[in-house]
Amino acid sequence: MVLGASIGGLFAARALSDTFDRVTLVDRDTLPETDENRKGVPQGRHAHAILPAGTKWLQETFPGLLEQFEADGVSVVREPDEMHFAPGGHLLSQKGRRRDPIPTYQPNRPQLEGGVRARLRALPNIEIIDRCEASGLINSPDGRRVVGVRVVDRDGGAEREIAADLVVDATGRGGRTTRWLADLGYDQPQEDRLAIDIKYVSRNLKMAPGALGSKKVVIVGACPGRPTGATFLQHGDDHWMLTLIGYGGHHPPTDPGEFLEFAKPILPPDVFEVLCAAEPLDDPVAHRYPASVRRRYERLERFPDGLLVFGDALCSFNPVYGQGMSAAALQAEALQDALAQGRDQLPRRFFKTAARRIEVAWQMALGSDLSLPEVPGPRPLPVRVLNAYFGWLMTAAEHDSALTQEFVKVSSLLSPPTILLTPATIGRVVVGNLRRRPPAR
Ligand SMILES: Cc1cc2nc3c(=O)[nH]c(=O)nc-3n(C[C@H](O)[C@H](O)[C@H](O)COP(=O)(O)OP(=O)(O)OC[C@H]3O[C@@H](n4cnc5c(N)ncnc54)[C@H](O)[C@@H]3O)c2cc1C
Repeated sequence: MVLGASIGGLFAARALSDTFDRVTLVDRDTLPETDENRKGVPQGRHAHAILPAGTKWLQETFPGLLEQFEADGVSVVREPDEMHFAPGGHLLSQKGRRRDPIPTYQPNRPQLEGGVRARLRALPNIEIIDRCEASGLINSPDGRRVVGVRVVDRDGGAEREIAADLVVDATGRGGRTTRWLADLGYDQPQEDRLAIDIKYVSRNLKMAPGALGSKKVVIVGACPGRPTGATFLQHGDDHWMLTLIGYGGHHPPTDPGEFLEFAKPILPPDVFEVLCAAEPLDDPVAHRYPASVRRRYERLERFPDGLLVFGDALCSFNPVYGQGMSAAALQAEALQDALAQGRDQLPRRFFKTAARRIEVAWQMALGSDLSLPEVPGPRPLPVRVLNAYFGWLMTAAEHDSALTQEFVKVSSLLSPPTILLTPATIGRVVVGNLRRRPPAR
């Protein structure tokens, strides 16, 4: 049984379908037949990019899905000059040829979720039940194993029980398992949390094809002194989504005129000019995101058999780094690996493997947030040293396409950050920064 049929639940179900005879997903929402937004996934109205690490998993797990998106008109980024990527105040080099064979596909969020859901529905051992809310867990008489779920159908009827060999909680960042565990007499996991108080405001726009030249995506990250940013994403030929973000005290407005004004100091002038001529397709909508939260289930001494926690319920990342769905793919890999070793002590082995797989993403998101003086929180020496190094690296990467490619591989979760700390890379960073120094007078 998988609770929640959003990206996390769908990815978990796909991993389970190789091993279990029958996998049932329940979601309390009405799941749409077409690519519509839905109430249970309000973030679907905002820019959603899947990083190459997630794309790679989709390619391997759902052959033909990404090609189908492209055939349906979804925009695909393959070359460096199709992307304007400016994290931390540095516009990274757009020159050279991309060596990475994984392109960036840009379906919108409902399209991505709908495409994966349709593939899962086609598998003979998967059932998806919508309008069905999970209300609690059922424990074995000795209290050591979860043996099922209590659910309530939204179309009426009393609470009913469904037996299961394994229950996966993928109900999102609310993290129902923490409460359910307490009901069953277990300790709650330790929570790592960084308060960031981010607000997203987004709207869809129609623009003439080619209005931004070769560009298919413009990402301008926040930087010290300007804790605001923008993602301008081409979904289809003439369809774009603009998402503006701001950290606490610098939130974007939803009034259409003020929304445009807010974008002005963030976007490059030529992009802003094109934006002003674009035709709005809807009103700006907002989403508040208070804190990144990671629940350390791998550290609990006691945990019932027959239960896993997955997706945002396990770890919810600051969305501006676009990691959440790819982290769910990394967790799905962890689940596949854990199941390959059998079902004995599955929760302990899954939580440990998943914790290792998402560690880099978590540390990178935390480190980047703490490079902004506007984000409150302790900054131990290693964080300050690494942030200083990443600042130099991005400075050098402005004119060094090889460095840019290495940085992008790490931020896309394809390569470990250690590739940025080799003597050769450090040498390029030093040379790149020395070259930028103004000549001595
Ligand atoms: C504003 C914003 C922008 C984002 N941008 C990106 C991005 O660019 N790239 C990226 O990779 N990630 C992004 N993310 C993160 C991404 O949306 C999540 O990581 C992803 O949706 C995986 O989440 P999930 O399936 O675990 O949970 P969710 O997507 O939150 O889904 C939870 C599901 O559980 C269901 N549910 C809840 N309670 C119950 C219950 N009791 N019973 C049954 N069903 C229930 C809900 O209806 C829903 O379908 C963004 C997040 C936000 C907030």
